[in-house]
Amino acid sequence: MKTTQGFTVAIDGPAASGKGTISKAVAAHFGFAHLDTGLLYRAVGAKVLLGVDPLEAALALMPDDLDGDALRTPDVAQEASKVAALPDVRAALVDFQRSFAARAGGAVLDGRDIGTVICPGAQVKLFVTANAVVRARRRFEELSGKGIETTFDDVLADVQARDARDMGRADAPLRAAEDAIEVDTSDMAIADAVAAVVTLIEAKQTALG
Ligand code: C5P
Repeated sequence: MKTTQGFTVAIDGPAASGKGTISKAVAAHFGFAHLDTGLLYRAVGAKVLLGVDPLEAALALMPDDLDGDALRTPDVAQEASKVAALPDVRAALVDFQRSFAARAGGAVLDGRDIGTVICPGAQVKLFVTANAVVRARRRFEELSGKGIETTFDDVLADVQARDARDMGRADAPLRAAEDAIEVDTSDMAIADAVAAVVTLIEAKQTALG
């Protein structure tokens, strides 16, 4: 019987790299809990768009705030990456993420700074990437599938603006942890990436006994 007490998988990467799909599939496969940490910043961003102060929104965040398709719009994504550059907002969200990571039974957290800042001691760290055009195509198809009207060029511009903001900020910029394994999904079916990641986690579990 493998121990999964406090076993944490940290999955970082830019928008639409496939990290969300990989995280969900990995969590389901191993029976780990999953936290999409982007939702925390999206929920804060959505409140800011309604006129709430960013830090107040972060401090008052409730689990119910993380539900709903309304957080998946391009406007909320852009606002999320703006509030995510505010150190006070990031600091207000740290404890919740760390306690989630430490839960018994194992956890997968995906975001931008999980392997570098939130869970530097994670047993498995992945950095999932893909080139911007591939990512914009995926996001465009996802948004179109939900009936959100947009163009490929607008989605590509949004993805690039968010990449620049997320990588360029001073506090917890998007980057791979030194010990992260890079998974480039540009030319890979997400199902194949999931299978590779599952094998990798199994090997780590075996190595840890
Ligand atoms: O992952 P998702 O695209 O939903 O994230 C929305 C935004 O939240 C990102 O563009 C990023 O600015 C921010 N974010 C972050 N740190 C995380 C997760 C998301 O800064 N751990």
